[in-house]
Amino acid sequence: MKTIGLIGGMSWESSKLYYEILNQEVKERLGGLHSAKCMMYSFDFEPIKQLQFDGKWDEAAEQLKDAARRLENSGVDFILLCTNTMHKLAEQIESNIGIPFLHIADATGQVIQNNGLKKVGLLATRFTMEEPFYKERLEQRYGLEVIIPGDEDRNMIHEIIYQELCRGEIKESSKKEYRRVIQHLIEQGAEGIILGCTEITLLIKQEDCEVPVFDTTYIHAVQAVEFALES
Ligand code: GLU
Repeated sequence: MKTIGLIGGMSWESSKLYYEILNQEVKERLGGLHSAKCMMYSFDFEPIKQLQFDGKWDEAAEQLKDAARRLENSGVDFILLCTNTMHKLAEQIESNIGIPFLHIADATGQVIQNNGLKKVGLLATRFTMEEPFYKERLEQRYGLEVIIPGDEDRNMIHEIIYQELCRGEIKESSKKEYRRVIQHLIEQGAEGIILGCTEITLLIKQEDCEVPVFDTTYIHAVQAVEFALES
């Protein structure tokens, strides 16, 4: 089994889900007392969030590159970055290490493609919904059409991620708002909904949505287990 390197803490509310899914999946596949071989570098999220909000992405990149290098030097076989948003810096991290980096949008794009869907709605932070690094990758590599909510709704989705979900707060009123936005995306032709932020799965489940939901946390962690167990 390969050793998985996790860059986490963004936020730790979702990193703990990664840890749980990795271990559950290894247990299901190998049985007995088998569990995932992994190491996590977990950030203090407050200063990282500040760099994001101040647009200081180069400084954030330096910190993420350092975390990836430390994991590589500790002997992990490949890297998972446990946040969609920070994949904005994926190329910088990847070009700085000599081990594989499993990109969360590739894992998600492959699963959506295997399901035969073409048009999907994306719920995520403003960075992920509005900037090209995520949507374009899905469009260019997986032939998907990615639609996003309107400006006000994007703001609301983004605020709830940072003000509630990343702090472990799950509110019925927020769930209702997310469901309303999902319904609107479906009316615009979305055949599936990407939970493109690793905390949204804390709020939205398949039963909240009449089309398939693609939970990036789960998809990414499962792909990591498959890769770790490949010979
Ligand atoms: N975990 C979130 C994501 O998947 C948001 C937190 C962050 O900005 O990294 O995008």
